[in-house]
Amino acid sequence: MSLLQKIQHQRHDFTHRAFDRHIRLGVTGLSGSGKTAFITSLVYQLTQGDHPANLPFFDVVREQRYLGGKLSAQLPDMPRFPLEQNLQYLLQASPQWPPSTVGSSRLGLQLRYKATTGLRARLQSHSELSLDIIDYPGEWLLDLPLMEMSYQQWCEFSWQLFNREHRAALAQPFLQQLQDADLANDGELYVQQLTDSYKQLLQQYHDLPGAYLNQPGRLLVPGPLAGAPMLQLFPLLPQQAAQNTALVAKLTQHYDSYCKHVIKPFYRRYFAALDRQVILVDCLSALNAGYAATQELRQALRLILQSFNYGPSSLLSRLFKPQISKVLFAATKADHTTPEQHKALTLLLQQLLQQPLKHSQYQAATTEAMAIAAIRSSNSGFVQLDGLAQPCISGSTLQHEAVTYFPGDVPTNLPTPALFAQHQFAFIPLAPLPWQEPEPLPHVRMDHVLQFILGDKLR
Ligand code: GDP
Repeated sequence: MSLLQKIQHQRHDFTHRAFDRHIRLGVTGLSGSGKTAFITSLVYQLTQGDHPANLPFFDVVREQRYLGGKLSAQLPDMPRFPLEQNLQYLLQASPQWPPSTVGSSRLGLQLRYKATTGLRARLQSHSELSLDIIDYPGEWLLDLPLMEMSYQQWCEFSWQLFNREHRAALAQPFLQQLQDADLANDGELYVQQLTDSYKQLLQQYHDLPGAYLNQPGRLLVPGPLAGAPMLQLFPLLPQQAAQNTALVAKLTQHYDSYCKHVIKPFYRRYFAALDRQVILVDCLSALNAGYAATQELRQALRLILQSFNYGPSSLLSRLFKPQISKVLFAATKADHTTPEQHKALTLLLQQLLQQPLKHSQYQAATTEAMAIAAIRSSNSGFVQLDGLAQPCISGSTLQHEAVTYFPGDVPTNLPTPALFAQHQFAFIPLAPLPWQEPEPLPHVRMDHVLQFILGDKLR
């Protein structure tokens, strides 16, 4: 893009924002929660799926006022969300899930519609809304609490976490290495060697179902920060971090730089500009992984929600003036359950979020929780069992084996350890349903999602 084009684009951008014709939508969730599938579906529904039969609860489409959406020119400042590549995976004869995005990406859309009210409806044949979708890892929001902790407090927090039942065994080799560590040695090679061991541990936790709280967020996905000294960072044992030694001093310095040069700028540059936010949560995988996993998911969500706490004394309002007015919490992969369980899945999500959402400081933004499947992988129906109609779903496993079964009930409350001891939840992953263009991309409740996020702006 030439400088002139860039300036024109920015002016267009500014005019749209000034007249409230521009929405910056953040999409986040912990790794594997469904961000890639969600954005692929959202954009496809807005550009190709705009039929009332496909999006019955999206007012602008149902009222036949939607004139279509198209991708807009990409600004060169951020990686582009790989929409076209993702669709290719879904269009294969044996469809596959697209690979998860890593780091942050962006996609811009221009939406056209006929306004119903106001000056716009009278003066213009059509109105436009530009939508910027910004995808970023939920793990980056897990970094916010670091800003209110010292390096030593972070070490205490981390080792409390690593000592938990589902994490302790994996932490053993790193624990051993730290117990033998030379705290007077702050040499480059030595610090890097210990950082590499911690990275290895984080990678193992990342691959362990139910270990959500992995900090710092950029150690595994450094992006442009790769090689920066502040990423030489790991939690020493709490009793070590309390000592006054060269290694402790160096790690404390790196920790403070990480807070100042990574966390703060992320909130100032990206987060502060968001108008609306979708937070995706995979509750079913946490149930599959057991009690410790559901507890850790709850704790991670509580930390993530701190980023939406805009009370006058909150850390964020001291950093900038947040403007997020709507937050949607979506329990993803609802198609791994039968439809009559979706209500329970929504209640479970609400329970996971309940405590923080009750606080009045979150009421600045309108929030909603719902159970969705961005890209449907099952069909639902009934089988006759002992003369009774039993709900079931049918689809294909990730190995493309056809299956029909009842996946079980979703609890409406967080189950107790006793229940987990008796019952193994098994919501098994399924492959996307076969799909060909121009058929609509099958989903569950993406029309409700669109209505919540965009409905008021498309009147
Ligand atoms: P990300 O890491 O947050 O980008 O997550 P992805 O979108 O890559 O999703 C991770 C995995 O979850 C996918 O590979 C699928 O197996 C599964 N998944 C995501 N969305 C859906 C959905 O709508 N339905 C079903 N059945 N599975 C999904």
